Amino acid sequence: MKRILVIEDEEDLREIVLFNLEKEGYRPLGVENANDALIALEEFSPDLILLDLMLPGLSGFQFLHILRNSAPPVKDTPVIVVSARTREGDIVRALEEGADDYVTKPFSVKVLLARVGALLRRTGKKGSGIINAGGISLDPDGMTVSVDGEEVSLTRKEFELLALLVSHPGRVFTRNQLLTNVWGYEADVVTRTVDAHVSSLRKKLGNAGTKIKTVPRIGYRLDP
Ligand code: CA
Repeated sequence: MKRILVIEDEEDLREIVLFNLEKEGYRPLGVENANDALIALEEFSPDLILLDLMLPGLSGFQFLHILRNSAPPVKDTPVIVVSARTREGDIVRALEEGADDYVTKPFSVKVLLARVGALLRRTGKKGSGIINAGGISLDPDGMTVSVDGEEVSLTRKEFELLALLVSHPGRVFTRNQLLTNVWGYEADVVTRTVDAHVSSLRKKLGNAGTKIKTVPRIGYRLDP
């Protein structure tokens, strides 16, 4: 499931965009300023960013500049600027600073979703093709998992949790990172939820389940 970071300080607009992205099958996370967005880059690792330009604190241009000068793979995250600025100079500057596309406000939700879909198809870095790690084979598009050729039946959240771990073998994820990525902004989930899902995943994966290692007091990682 593609993760989309929405940086927009107008709450009503942000909620509309988040609602429609979620309805379209994406996993969106909304933040109201660029500083929170910089934190979310690490914890949420978005596949695409929707960026407002006029923001409190760091501007969208400044955020874009920082993003494009950060380390890969973060620096290559596709960006669509969504802005009320319609001057040619602003559009050119955003594209020169590394935006991949530019949508002017007010926009049609359908057009925005089409642009998002088109850019993801064009860049499609994550979630394309079957991932193999730790004896687990995971198909992000078909949302299926198999171990030793046997398909394993998982819940949606178990699948998303496992998908995150197998796409980054060896990397340690904190419980909070896993919560942010898999449960997003859903309220009333606690870190205990992560432990319960890992425990259930381990059972379902059988021998391959032992590849999900507990990192004491921090979180989990997948043994490659
Ligand atoms: Ca704004």
